[in-house]
Amino acid sequence: MSRLTVLVTGAASGIGKACALTFAQAGYNVVVNYGHSQQAALETVELCKSYGVESEAVQADVSKKEEVDAMVDLTLKTFGSIDVLINNSGITKDNLLLRMSSEDFADVLDVNLLGTFNCIKAVVKPMMKARKGRIINMSSVIGVIGNIGQANYAASKGGVIALTKSVARELASRNVTCNAIAPGFIQTKMTDVLSDEVKSGILAQVPMARLGQPEDVAKVALFLASESANYITGQVIHVDGGMVM
Ligand code: NAD
Repeated sequence: MSRLTVLVTGAASGIGKACALTFAQAGYNVVVNYGHSQQAALETVELCKSYGVESEAVQADVSKKEEVDAMVDLTLKTFGSIDVLINNSGITKDNLLLRMSSEDFADVLDVNLLGTFNCIKAVVKPMMKARKGRIINMSSVIGVIGNIGQANYAASKGGVIALTKSVARELASRNVTCNAIAPGFIQTKMTDVLSDEVKSGILAQVPMARLGQPEDVAKVALFLASESANYITGQVIHVDGGMVM
């Protein structure tokens, strides 16, 4: 049987890398998208290949429609299908509202929300034609509860949830599911920059009293892509140690 293909955006590091490796281990061919980190993306590709699957690194800035369209075309030519899309690319540009510039607001929306839209739009036709597909969007607990200093990030991740539900409704009859994962605080370079003080403040809000690992999120993405999740769409799965309930 031919292998299924997953396209993971921002797969050179953190949660995206863990998704790439988890899917490779499960037998998927893996397209490792990266924005700028070519070296790290190539390392992810080599690790994926060590599981005996095919893997390619493809550069594209997800906020640029032409680059995303070219990436999807190339993937379809190379692997024949995109069975699973994981919209994982994301950035933060934190600041208190009074100091947040319009540019920093727009930049975060461009990558986190427009980028997710661009990738979904590029795969919709082939998925509808195939009458199957799985779209998994990385939101955040912050998109549900908001956060001081993250108005741009919270708006983008809340937008990802609303986008997920609309796409789920539009594509459900075509056997294409669309779900979101809302991670809490996961140990990656996005959270490594936080001070110890901020980290202990966060941990005080997490009933499980520890940061999550990228693999904790990747395993849920694998579940959402699996046949076990055939009848699940439009949902937001929290992977946050009980932070939001
Ligand atoms: P990360 O910084 O390691 O990963 C983000 C990836 O996105 C990087 O590889 C980066 O190069 C890539 N990227 C950034 N801009 C891009 C662009 N324009 N085009 C293509 N790729 C781009 O951080 P992470 O923690 O692994 O984050 C992964 C996702 O999970 C993000 O969407 C983030 O918002 C979300 N998330 C993370 C946490 C956490 O605690 N770490 C919590 C909730 C949600």
